[in-house]
Amino acid sequence: MLKTIVQKVNVSESEKDFILKGILSVIKKVVTAQQFDIWFSCLRILSVTDNSITFVAPNNFIREWLYSNYKDLFSGAVYKVLNSSREVIFSTEEAVFGQASAPPFSANDTVPTIMNPSDDYYAIPLNKYYSFENFVVGPCNRLAHAAAVAVSESPGCAYNPLFIHGASGLGKTHLLHAINNVLVSKRMMKTIFLSCERFVNHYISTIRSNSWDSFRELYRNTDALLLDDIQLFENSQGSREEFFHTFNTLYNARKQIVITSDCPPEFIASLEDRLVSRFKWGLLCGIDNATIETRIAIAEKKASLWGINLPHEYATYLAENISGNIRELEGAITRLSKEEKITKNTVTLDLVRKVVRDLSGNKKTVNIEAVIEAVSKRFHVSVSQLQSKRRTRSLTLPRQIAMYLSRKLTNMSLMEIGGYIGGRDHSTVIHADEKIMQLSKKDKNLLFIIQKLESELQR
Ligand code: ADP
Ligand code: MG
Repeated sequence: MLKTIVQKVNVSESEKDFILKGILSVIKKVVTAQQFDIWFSCLRILSVTDNSITFVAPNNFIREWLYSNYKDLFSGAVYKVLNSSREVIFSTEEAVFGQASAPPFSANDTVPTIMNPSDDYYAIPLNKYYSFENFVVGPCNRLAHAAAVAVSESPGCAYNPLFIHGASGLGKTHLLHAINNVLVSKRMMKTIFLSCERFVNHYISTIRSNSWDSFRELYRNTDALLLDDIQLFENSQGSREEFFHTFNTLYNARKQIVITSDCPPEFIASLEDRLVSRFKWGLLCGIDNATIETRIAIAEKKASLWGINLPHEYATYLAENISGNIRELEGAITRLSKEEKITKNTVTLDLVRKVVRDLSGNKKTVNIEAVIEAVSKRFHVSVSQLQSKRRTRSLTLPRQIAMYLSRKLTNMSLMEIGGYIGGRDHSTVIHADEKIMQLSKKDKNLLFIIQKLESELQR
């Protein structure tokens, strides 16, 4: 059969399945069951021509990983199955459907995909990589993790809604995936998992097409609704209204609702009180920055998942030097693995240092005008008031926050920052920096405001 298949230009779907099964069975023999599950089980074949074969990965992250680590394995397997060599191409669902590309290496990278091209419902596809097994639990995320496990075991009954909040890159989307994976594969439930941005886009396209019945039918007839990054509702009153009714319908039918956000509900600007209070009906839990021990454990876990030999002292070095966002820690390990492949050397401390240096050099630099503008908006004071020398109490805190953020996010010296914000010297900036660090340790609300400003500025 294969011989006839490969001579044809238009290979049918069932023939592609047949070829894929053959290739995957070759690969299965040489990788571990866990590797197979994570990287290979989610692939499909897009096309087979005389010269090439194109595989589609669910997201850019998996595509990059396959490309850097398993290209030769694929070439060999393709040769074995098709009896001739082809160029192996990896694409993504996103590229196939012609959507804008998202930055690599994030859980969000499971870019929303059109599950069924005739639908305009954009769902995030299943991704086994983001499972509970691959999630490292520490003091920073213990409650959120336990609640997510409980929800996946007793949907609609444990905590409803479950609202998880935390700064960017701390594992919120990972937990949503993990819940979704369990609900779909173990419980065979119908779930809807999508980013808030997609919900808003779908809402807008429904206004144009006036197809409200199918919109409502879709969101209100599901066993679970998992909505990521609800802070993005801020600018769309109509979709918040629609979501409010969806929420009520699902809640009354005891269907599970899980929501994530970069801050607690009351800090989402323009979110109506009735939604804020509904979000508090269930369980609200935050994810904090990971402690050094948790970051070391995460670095080691990622390295072992990706088959990199990362000695404990190197994992510690990474965890000590990459302190906030876990996505950055993960990016560092991916870089190490690529460097290891290119140089064909094992990972050395020098290499680890270089990767950390490069990563800190690559950070988006923020300019001080943007900081001042963001602070002025948040605290309803004018830019000129912030830059003035006036010492009224209502100006002191925003000014100190502007100094703290400028020191953290810009490349400017203490002198320059002081000069720019109120004509102060460097000791005022140091004082502001220490003050804000102390205050935000004691005052969670202030901490959320600062974290939110920080992530907005770096976006
Ligand atoms: P968020 O949605 O909060 O911005 P993500 O869920 O996208 O963050 O996480 C960013 C990356 O960090 C993901 O690749 C995720 O797997 C990883 N990550 C975050 N926290 C953990 C953890 N506790 N254990 C393992 N991986 C983690
Ligand atoms: Mg996320």
